[in-house]
Amino acid sequence: MTATFASAADLLAAIQPADGGRDITDPATGEVVGRAPEHTVEDLEAAIAAARAAQPAWGARSHADRSAALNAAADAIDANAEALAELLSREQGKPLNGPNARFEVGACSAWLRATAAFPMDPEVMFDDDGGRAELHYRPIGVVGAVGPWNWPMMISIWQIAPSLRMGNTVVLKPSEYTPLSVLALGAVLNSVLEKDLLHVVSGGRDVGAALTSHPEIDKVTFTGSTATGKAIAKASADSLKRLTLELGGNDAGIVLPDVDAKAIAEDLFWGAFINTGQTCAALKRLYVHEDVYDDVCAALTEVAQAMPMGVGLSEDNVLGPLQNKAQYDIVARLVQEAKDSGARVLVGGNPDESAAGYFYPSTLVADIDNDNPLVAEEQFGPALPIIKYSNVDEAIEMANGVDVGLGGSVWSSDRDRAVEVAARIEAGTVWINKHGAIDPRMPFGGIKQSGYGVEFGVEGLKHLGVPQVINY
Ligand code: NAD
Repeated sequence: MTATFASAADLLAAIQPADGGRDITDPATGEVVGRAPEHTVEDLEAAIAAARAAQPAWGARSHADRSAALNAAADAIDANAEALAELLSREQGKPLNGPNARFEVGACSAWLRATAAFPMDPEVMFDDDGGRAELHYRPIGVVGAVGPWNWPMMISIWQIAPSLRMGNTVVLKPSEYTPLSVLALGAVLNSVLEKDLLHVVSGGRDVGAALTSHPEIDKVTFTGSTATGKAIAKASADSLKRLTLELGGNDAGIVLPDVDAKAIAEDLFWGAFINTGQTCAALKRLYVHEDVYDDVCAALTEVAQAMPMGVGLSEDNVLGPLQNKAQYDIVARLVQEAKDSGARVLVGGNPDESAAGYFYPSTLVADIDNDNPLVAEEQFGPALPIIKYSNVDEAIEMANGVDVGLGGSVWSSDRDRAVEVAARIEAGTVWINKHGAIDPRMPFGGIKQSGYGVEFGVEGLKHLGVPQVINY
């Protein structure tokens, strides 16, 4: 039966340890949100053993049964949406409104329903006088999932939903920065899922490392930094685990000279500043043709100045704090280095050091060189560099001149021209006149050092199964 939690406090009561645990603070206020259990490697062993024991029976169930379970899980999230959004807002910092906490909780149930609906019939490779061959996807076993702190609930669902749909069981370790949101999500899901299909183990990097190298884990789905992705690839090699790695990005947008700057400014802004810039496939470098450079800078500045930033629980705000001090320090350093180099700050760049939370104002930096660290490194925060170019070949070369390739975008009033440019951008997804618009039906993943494997759609489901051919 679906558990219903009237508020974030009720959720916290269900997931906090009776005593002990670690204080988790609200990045907007510094206040304690709640206490997260500190699970040990022994707790992890018990979770893996339970998930292992439950897997064969779950794997033997039909797709229809497993899809019904995902739909029930989506209903449970919808029934608890406001309590989940409140807790997410307090722990992660993101506001309730805008493309933030309520949006993220809504995406969780939407992704579960979409994942439940994809067809997963065997593919017939041939069927003729010589015989028949069918390609099936079988369960892999126990999936170890490790996630980041920026979209903690939604990314957990991206890992859990296809894993369960394909007949696997899951042991998931959330980021040590946002364990409460994911433990609460797990409590809601487990109120309707059968026992032991999903375990959430809360702990630090040591628990993540123990999970991703564990011999009883058959597949790892990891979303986080490129550095950690490489550590996981090495640590999982001994047991040749299958891996899906969704890693860092430094997405470029290329604005062609034929745009109407005012008309695209708001979409450009949200492409870069969604979740206050803390999004893997956000626009992180903007290349603008010299003919429209000043107009785009002016239109973006106007939008940036109009977007309220503040404490998440206030209904007015659409931008929040950086989630943690380490990320705040990265953004502050990169903007300072840009300023020191002589780049021009159009708006922002002047944080209030006395503020209680990790607020960094929306910042636009113009007249900046392509090799400046704010352009070359992933800022993962609300500071967008805007680079001027004079011919599109040069812009494409700069866009492709990094070792990551998650997303990209082209902005133009000529769709055919934009598609031509898009085809030359080295990224897993290229959007036209928008950026970061993911959809559960579109496979999503990175190239280069943004990782390998894809999530979403039927292609994403196949990454949570092992192929088996039946030939007769
Ligand atoms: P992170 O790599 O620091 O941490 C992610 C998770 O890995 C945490 O749960 C952490 O405890 C765990 N971890 C750390 N060391 C580990 C180890 N040696 N073995 C196993 N687990 C370990 O990343 P983060 O700072 O939480 O997230 C931000 C990064 O994630 C950014 O680079 C961003 O671009 C990327 N990201 C990518 C996607 C995508 O879909 N491609 C989505 C969101 C975020």
